[in-house]
Amino acid sequence: MRRLRNVKIVATLGPASSDYKMIRALFEAGADVFRLNMSHGTHEDIRARHAIIRQVEADTGRPICILADLQGPKLRVGAFANPKGEELVEGAAFRMDLDATPGDINRVQLPHPEIFAALEPGSSLLVNDGKIRLRVDTCGKDFANCTVTVGGTISNRKGVNVPDVLLPLAALSDKDRKDLEFACELGIEWLALSFVQRPEDVIEAKELAKGRAAVLSKIEKPAAVKAYDAILAVSDGIMVARGDLGVELPVHSVPPIQKRLVRGARAAAKPVIVATQMLESMIESPMPTRAEVSDVATAIYEGADAIMLSAESAAGRYPIEAVTTMNNVAISVESDPTYRQVIESSRTINRTNVADAIVAAAREISEAADIKAICCFSQSGTTVALVARERPRVPIIALTPLVETARRMCLTWGAHCVVTEEQERFKGAVISAVRAARTYGFATEKDQIVLTAGVPFNVQGTTNILRVAPCDERLVYKAPE
Ligand code: PGA
Ligand code: MN
Repeated sequence: MRRLRNVKIVATLGPASSDYKMIRALFEAGADVFRLNMSHGTHEDIRARHAIIRQVEADTGRPICILADLQGPKLRVGAFANPKGEELVEGAAFRMDLDATPGDINRVQLPHPEIFAALEPGSSLLVNDGKIRLRVDTCGKDFANCTVTVGGTISNRKGVNVPDVLLPLAALSDKDRKDLEFACELGIEWLALSFVQRPEDVIEAKELAKGRAAVLSKIEKPAAVKAYDAILAVSDGIMVARGDLGVELPVHSVPPIQKRLVRGARAAAKPVIVATQMLESMIESPMPTRAEVSDVATAIYEGADAIMLSAESAAGRYPIEAVTTMNNVAISVESDPTYRQVIESSRTINRTNVADAIVAAAREISEAADIKAICCFSQSGTTVALVARERPRVPIIALTPLVETARRMCLTWGAHCVVTEEQERFKGAVISAVRAARTYGFATEKDQIVLTAGVPFNVQGTTNILRVAPCDERLVYKAPE
């Protein structure tokens, strides 16, 4: 089985997508990566979905990537006496404090002393995805007296965003640490960190992950946008988390930020996911809006590695249709000649070493001659990311003896991942590449491929060989070595 597009699709699993039949259908419709959202569901739910994904992988024989998304220091108000909550009106006074007494029309608990320590008069508190806005008038170590500037309904455990202050919060809550350990022990390829504020947050998570998973930073705080270059430098991947980003910053600032983040990650050869509300109306409707289709297309034209579904696949009525829509939009965009022009003119690569030069040469050869695929042997996936950064016109076949690497690379633009036997000699590697190209329908006996590898094999970071090979195995043996 092979995909007919380069951009990858991440589908979040949830109540609408938790049984074998649905998860398999989502995979077959085009989901390359499944996201397990640690904010919802118990460890037992997560464990069950994880086992099903691995079963689908075994049954289809294709590597599937799993991304566990940690909730991060998500702030929430406490409970209200009235289970329906209260209606806050513009101009009214409202107080947040540490008192666990159920809230009313005048006050509610905000069980985060660190927030009160960081607030200043004039700071904003946003509640329920920014629908309600409060301005802090006076505050102390255990309270903030506010004025409602935008009213709305506030109810139990609604989320709170504090955009204008760098919060003195640990990057990982106790829950996150438990979830991280749980997910790494289950065996996942990517960990997503929510509400990253500084590079140190990422470094801390990487220390806890101990190489068991790659770490992806969700950019959803103004502080993270400011510190993007430093955060990108220590992250393995990026998510443009437009939901919270559009709460913490004006919504109209999100598109330019998205462009900057995608470009930066592309230049650094690190996978970047564009996320949230991509096909939001498909939670309820089998047809997306034209604007949503256009948004998905834009992310693809920008060269994002992956586009993501959240509630559309986790809790919506049309999960399969949502994946199919993304798949179709991707095929349509990627066959547009303008797409090639846009992708190639936005290629910003600073080549500084042998691997960079070899992958560039592989792309140039594939453009100059009739080459059906670039086959790339990789231990860690780094060389595959470099080939993907070139955004070549021909498919990328990512070959590795390590199943974890194959799964992780499923997030990378264009990578068709294949687990091969361990290579001892270069000749064997050529044969493996040729067989993979033919097995998955990328090439026939009459075609040629380009191959990159590092010799000696099974050592990280040694890419030093480029070979053009015929796909007829008999000719490979005959060819001069
Ligand atoms: P979330 O992150 O869905 O975990 O909140 C994505 C976003 O904020 O866009
Ligand atoms: Mn978020």
